[in-house]
Amino acid sequence: MSHECPFCQIIQGQLLAKIVFEDEKVLAFKDKNPQAPVHLLIIPKKHYFSLNEMPEEERELLGQMIFVARQLAEASGLKTSGYRLVINTGPDSGQQVFHLHLHLLGGRPFSWPPG
Ligand code: AMP
Ligand code: ZN
Repeated sequence: MSHECPFCQIIQGQLLAKIVFEDEKVLAFKDKNPQAPVHLLIIPKKHYFSLNEMPEEERELLGQMIFVARQLAEASGLKTSGYRLVINTGPDSGQQVFHLHLHLLGGRPFSWPPG
């Protein structure tokens, strides 16, 4: 838990977000500045600055985040049309919030390679 971290504040209920999934270890909510018709963020409740700080022992938690993303993609009707999962990590990626998060984006086509 980091007091300056907006995502920790969402977990604590101190900052409002549209929560779409929650269990003991994972929270998912709508991105406040959506880049696609569906744009959700899936986060571990434990604060990790980025993927680089997550220890290998947390592989199960990371796997759980991905399965939650898949479940939310299916629930959002994206299974057939497709979707993109993104974990921005470090300066070159453009990471802006330093609490590990997985983006789920869908509902429109995306170009590749990314910008
Ligand atoms: P990243 O560039 O991967 O660090 O992405 C951070 C994402 O978090 C951006 O898409 C922001 O729109 C989103 N975001 C930042 N603050 C909030 C918030 N309080 N509630 C929901 N989404 C947020
Ligand atoms: Zn945090």
